[in-house]
Amino acid sequence: QALQQGVAVTRYEPGQDENHLRELKLVSDLHSAIRHGGLHMNYQPKLDNRTGQLLQVEALVRWIHPELGFISPEEFIFLAEQSGQIHDLTDHILQRVADDARAWFNAGLDAGVAINLSAMDLTWPALTDRVASIFGGWHHNMARITLEVTESALMDDPEEAMATLNRLRDLGVTLSVDDFGTGYSSLSQLRKLPVQELKIDKSFVLKLNSEPQDQLIVKSTIDMAHGLGLKVVAEGIENLATWKLLQTWGCDLGQGFYLSRPVSADDLAQTAVALAER
Ligand code: C2E
Ligand code: CA
Ligand code: CA
Ligand code: CA
Repeated sequence: QALQQGVAVTRYEPGQDENHLRELKLVSDLHSAIRHGGLHMNYQPKLDNRTGQLLQVEALVRWIHPELGFISPEEFIFLAEQSGQIHDLTDHILQRVADDARAWFNAGLDAGVAINLSAMDLTWPALTDRVASIFGGWHHNMARITLEVTESALMDDPEEAMATLNRLRDLGVTLSVDDFGTGYSSLSQLRKLPVQELKIDKSFVLKLNSEPQDQLIVKSTIDMAHGLGLKVVAEGIENLATWKLLQTWGCDLGQGFYLSRPVSADDLAQTAVALAER
């Protein structure tokens, strides 16, 4: 490790320099994108596997950089975390989603909305107050807001996570464990958390129809989660065979390119109609 760092400073590494410049530029441009409307949200349907009904949509942030084009959320969320901008970004996303969701509720589209939190948001003291204030007028609709927190974020500091989740739960929002199966949480740890939903990570779902080991993992995860009274979502459904298996095993909700790609807020009503007509 130390040797590698020594080499990096004494020898010219064009690739690394370019990467560093790109990161500096992205960090600074992200700052203005958050302030000046450079980001937008896409929404991906989460369907009832039994009836095919649209139950929720997951909000996914998008950044089309004016010069560099599409920047993956994984890249710029990581940079936001590293550069101290993550809470500003999450706050902005919460507001954008609240505006979009209000518009589709008013248009008669009856779907809940799921929002991703970063691991660092769990230690943000203002989080609960911001959620309460941004979704303040929603009252009995609070349960229609789901907050997705990754399994690994929950396990970073389980006690702090638990305190935050309890405060959020008191607001009436629904809580979901994202990317389940990629962390190291045990059944007993999960049982103590005030969560209502578990999302099986897409790495177990993408090749489900051809991988017997993934089938074993997914099937037992569904049974285990049901035993704990949790709803189960499978993400990454890319073909009919996979969806059929999940239906057979009683998986509650499904999400994936086979069912619907993420779409803009403007296209959501049309997508909902197309899904209802399938
Ligand atoms: P995630 O929360 O696990 O989101 C699911 C990702 O899987 C999304 O990628 C989605 O487009 C993709 N996906 C959905 N269906 C399929 C499928 O059938 N096949 C495949 N191969 N992929 C599928 P996306 O939008 O690029 O987001 C990547 C990650 O970035 C998210 O993973 C999440 O960790 C993060 N992210 C995205 N939007 C937000 C946000 O608003 N806030 C935060 N904190 N993180 C976000
Ligand atoms: Ca998610
Ligand atoms: Ca996920
Ligand atoms: Ca993920």
